[in-house]
Amino acid sequence: MESAASRLETVRSNIARACKPARRSPGDVTLIAVSKTHGAEAIRPLIDAGQRVFGENRVQEAQAKWPALREAHPDIALHLIGQLQSNKAEEAVALFDCIHGLDRPSLLTALARAMDKAGRLVPCFVQVNIGDEPQKGGCPIAGLPDFLAQVRATPIPLAGLMCIPPADTEAAPFFQFLAKLAADNGLSGGVAGLSMGMSGDYETAVMLGATHVRVGTALFGERGAAQG
Ligand SMILES: *Cc1c(COP(=O)(O)O)cnc(C)c1O
Repeated sequence: MESAASRLETVRSNIARACKPARRSPGDVTLIAVSKTHGAEAIRPLIDAGQRVFGENRVQEAQAKWPALREAHPDIALHLIGQLQSNKAEEAVALFDCIHGLDRPSLLTALARAMDKAGRLVPCFVQVNIGDEPQKGGCPIAGLPDFLAQVRATPIPLAGLMCIPPADTEAAPFFQFLAKLAADNGLSGGVAGLSMGMSGDYETAVMLGATHVRVGTALFGERGAAQG
């Protein structure tokens, strides 16, 4: 089996290669290693290989795994990439350094309150329901300008926009659309980020302007069939 270090090297060099035609610098792309469902024994080799940014999609799972792993490496940054329930806002604010799933006013209120209480501001990406899928999280496209105005009225640092394109279709048009929405809403030109791209399409995402790619399978291998 390929080692974690060599998979990491492969992903990093793919990112660097995708940066070239777009005249971007690899340093402007943050690789988030999505470690959901994987235990400490799978994560440690990546930490040893130098990876410092990780993503989890469940608050409870992250609470169980990360405090111990972080003790030895306080420079690790943890991103919450999944849907967040408002009643978990305080726990999320305590544990994570960035939250990618801000998508509705009730969660905005809960996060603003939790950050105020904790005295800690955690940057948030606004997730956009880019494919207009009824079952999926994310702010509706039509409601984005209003919701961004609501976010900007709070002290929460706006990190940019995030999306998960519809499964089984080409992702590129959705990545382009997210970049356009960012530009249309005053979130471009290095002012803010674009969190887009997963194992199957992170190179495309980088070519189209992603500042954060969320890569799990290409780094850790397949997750168990029953897991998220
Ligand atoms: C699981 C997950 C990823 C990583 O997916 P891979 O295909 O394993 O790279 C990225 N983003 C989100 C929101 C996820 O839930």
